[in-house]
Amino acid sequence: MPKKHNILLIICDALRPDFLGCYTKAEANTPTIDNLAENSVLFQNAIAPGCGTPLSVPELLTSTYPSIHGDYFLTSPENKLSGLLQANGWDTAAISTNAYLSPIFGYNRGYNHFQYLSKRNEIYLLYYFYRRLIELKDALSKKGFSKLLEFLITLLPLPQVRPPYASAAEVTKKAITWLNKLSEPFFLWLHYMDPHGPYVPPLSSLLHTKRKRGEKRWKWIYRAEIQFLDANLGKLIQYLRSRDFWSNTSLILTADHGEEFGEHGFSGHPHELYDTLIHVPLMIYSPFVKEAGMTIEQPVSLLDIFPTVCDLVGIEKPSHLQGKSLSPFLIEKPKKRDEGVISEAFKKEYEGSMNVGKHECTISDLGKVSYRTKRWKYIYSLNGRDELYNIKNDPMEQNNLIEEEKAIARKFRKRLREHISKQRTIKRKTLKRKLRKRISETREKIF
Ligand SMILES: [Zn+2]
Repeated sequence: MPKKHNILLIICDALRPDFLGCYTKAEANTPTIDNLAENSVLFQNAIAPGCGTPLSVPELLTSTYPSIHGDYFLTSPENKLSGLLQANGWDTAAISTNAYLSPIFGYNRGYNHFQYLSKRNEIYLLYYFYRRLIELKDALSKKGFSKLLEFLITLLPLPQVRPPYASAAEVTKKAITWLNKLSEPFFLWLHYMDPHGPYVPPLSSLLHTKRKRGEKRWKWIYRAEIQFLDANLGKLIQYLRSRDFWSNTSLILTADHGEEFGEHGFSGHPHELYDTLIHVPLMIYSPFVKEAGMTIEQPVSLLDIFPTVCDLVGIEKPSHLQGKSLSPFLIEKPKKRDEGVISEAFKKEYEGSMNVGKHECTISDLGKVSYRTKRWKYIYSLNGRDELYNIKNDPMEQNNLIEEEKAIARKFRKRLREHISKQRTIKRKTLKRKLRKRISETREKIF
């Protein structure tokens, strides 16, 4: 039943679902998120539209694919979820600590209150040398020297070094201050950065997180970051419950992308479309949802969040949205949907901060496009070798079946080619509209 109420959107940057207890039973270090999942509708196969912050967050907030949005900038409030809610009487607020999601790139537009919690970035230099040292260690074959380096590396990180973003404790503290001031109904977006590199958890979290036998050091430290995030999400939820927001707030918790730890020969989140990067957690808690605790296996996209919120609060969906509402899973009977979801990655040369704001990417800049169903993942490469994986049997996507399963590959390739052609048409129309708008604005200035 749609109702005007509060919406809390929590995006945890670079949080992989298989590190959470609610997705992987062996992981038991996330009691807050696991408890939230038990009271929410949990999506087992939620897929990000792209493999990095600028290919996922602006897309989530506007419900458009990277090939349509294609930019680090998010300036026009009318296409954003926050802008729509603001125009309909919501008090809109956001706390971000990711530099790409700051007023520099127009993210404050469409919000009554926007706080970018910045940190000085000297740490990047240290982090840079730290990573080079790790690479050097890997490159060295001499055992004795390698061992000595490994020991030195263990002394380098952690508690004394500050990350370039505000911690979960700071984001939660600020959020609680704001929750005291916001008028209802509100829309509050909180962007937590802790699981994102550089991994520098507080010492207490590291001590609280047991390293598994044979576990890579990076994974262990990453899990400690998640433990710290989880504890601070716990404080936020405890506050929401204590102030009765819980009965009038829908909470959506997700991540913009995952993180690689060498499963495909690289680390971080480069322009690739493996599940380590695009499979994300997604849970929706709402006091207006009938069956809390339900698990949905149907693949869904982060583009679906915008139309879902529209349905939850009873606002008409704008025509530009490319996602499909998840409300059938929440409040009605599920209807038939497309069996899979699509993600996009740009060419390698657009990776990293060097290209920030220099170029608006479009269809011709796409490097890879993928189609993910419950069972299959097809990666269509625009200038390389295609890949097909059986996700059920091979969740880490190690065994490429492109030669063995030709009929399936053909079917998915056709689906992705149709998607690319559709995006090209939409993009052309969008560019024409933008151009018309610019011409009319120029005319107004001249005459
Ligand atoms: Zn990110």
